[in-house]
Amino acid sequence: MVHGYKGVKFQNWARTYGCCPEMYFQPTSVEEVREVLALARQQNKRVKVVGGGHSPSDIACTDGFMIHMGKMNRVLQVDTEKKQVTVEAGILLADLHPQLGKHSLALSNLGAVSDVTAGGVIGSGTHNTGIKHGILATQVVALTLLTADGTILECSESSNADVFQAARVHLGCLGVVLTVTLQCVPQFHLQEISFPSTLEEVLNNLDGHLKKSEYFRFLWFPHSENVSVIYQDHTNKPPSSSANWFWDYAIGFYLLEFLLWIREKTKEALLELKAMLEAHPKMVAHFPVEVRFTRGDDILLSPCFQRDSCYMNIIMYRPYGKDVPRLDYWLTYETIMKKVGGRPHWAKAHNCTRKDFEKMYPAFSKFCAIREKLDPTGMFLNAYLEKVFY
Ligand SMILES: Cc1cc2nc3c(=O)[nH]c(=O)nc-3n(C[C@H](O)[C@H](O)[C@H](O)COP(=O)(O)OP(=O)(O)OC[C@H]3O[C@@H](n4cnc5c(N)ncnc54)[C@H](O)[C@@H]3O)c2cc1C
Repeated sequence: MVHGYKGVKFQNWARTYGCCPEMYFQPTSVEEVREVLALARQQNKRVKVVGGGHSPSDIACTDGFMIHMGKMNRVLQVDTEKKQVTVEAGILLADLHPQLGKHSLALSNLGAVSDVTAGGVIGSGTHNTGIKHGILATQVVALTLLTADGTILECSESSNADVFQAARVHLGCLGVVLTVTLQCVPQFHLQEISFPSTLEEVLNNLDGHLKKSEYFRFLWFPHSENVSVIYQDHTNKPPSSSANWFWDYAIGFYLLEFLLWIREKTKEALLELKAMLEAHPKMVAHFPVEVRFTRGDDILLSPCFQRDSCYMNIIMYRPYGKDVPRLDYWLTYETIMKKVGGRPHWAKAHNCTRKDFEKMYPAFSKFCAIREKLDPTGMFLNAYLEKVFY
């Protein structure tokens, strides 16, 4: 019988959101996850699965049952011919990379950090940059889902295809993702080149930059014209050591991120944000705005659904974990992004509700129908998801 713990306090990585689940479980097998769901059904409890707990919002919070997937973290199969790997959903990508390396394989694109799980990154539509590359969920070729009634669904393009199209960005609301099969590529090394530029130059030459580098992104330093352009490209050069000191030192941050149609709207949104900051000198932004690019896809609630996209994220640093005034900046940014047709990053704080999502996502009602069929009693809902679906 799986053991549940009382009195556990959950906090996300940035310590900006937390909750006190009634019971906290760390199952080690599918049978144990099933037991938790059976108990939840019996006692009419809600359930939330948590992966790496990195989402800078309350998307993974609950006061019901929390399932932490950290003990379901095995690599189950590596198919070197197809270059595919099947893992338990609780595996941290940081633990997967060396396993893939043993087979000279790698994932073609990753988010900024790897202390996140296979199930969690696809839950929120995690992305990085590179206009030829989709969000991480586009690397998923199959997954298994344990639904509220205890059924296991094998999902891929050829099996339960409609659920597959929804579950690759699942928001944690369709069931417990048990396993994920990822399409890999031959292992590669990247070379990074960064150089200074100006906002005007970058915005006027977006297409050129996108053509020049496979993984192009840039950082704009608010309250200035300054931009740091970053190119990352495949190289045959041997790797040099580089410590990722930045994240080691970051105590935490608030983060807000929206996506836009690439090119058409990027310039408009950034220039408007710049003008707003200039017009309101008391509104302070103390972190660069990161701008990244991603290929469109056909995953129902993917922020890149049917459009190549540009992500702009604003960040406020929390020195020594202290709160800083940020709401004016947040609201200004969110208003601009909504006006120009942006969609919020699912993992991050936003004020959008069902009405907004119905406008933003052509397939929103299709996703809702799948969710209601798989989870008719709302076992996997929480406060965050109620704002999305009600
Ligand atoms: C320092 C830092 C850097 C980041 N960089 C990036 C970045 O570059 N790009 C980007 O897009 N995002 C980025 N993020 C956000 C991060 O990638 C997402 O929040 C991601 O979802 C975190 O994965 P996780 O395993 O921590 O998931 P969690 O935050 O634990 O969960 C995310 C969602 O998935 C659900 N879930 C998790 N596992 C399962 C499962 N097995 N079955 C069902 N539901 C599940 C949860 O209930 C929740 O809804 C960053 C976050 C931090 C803190």
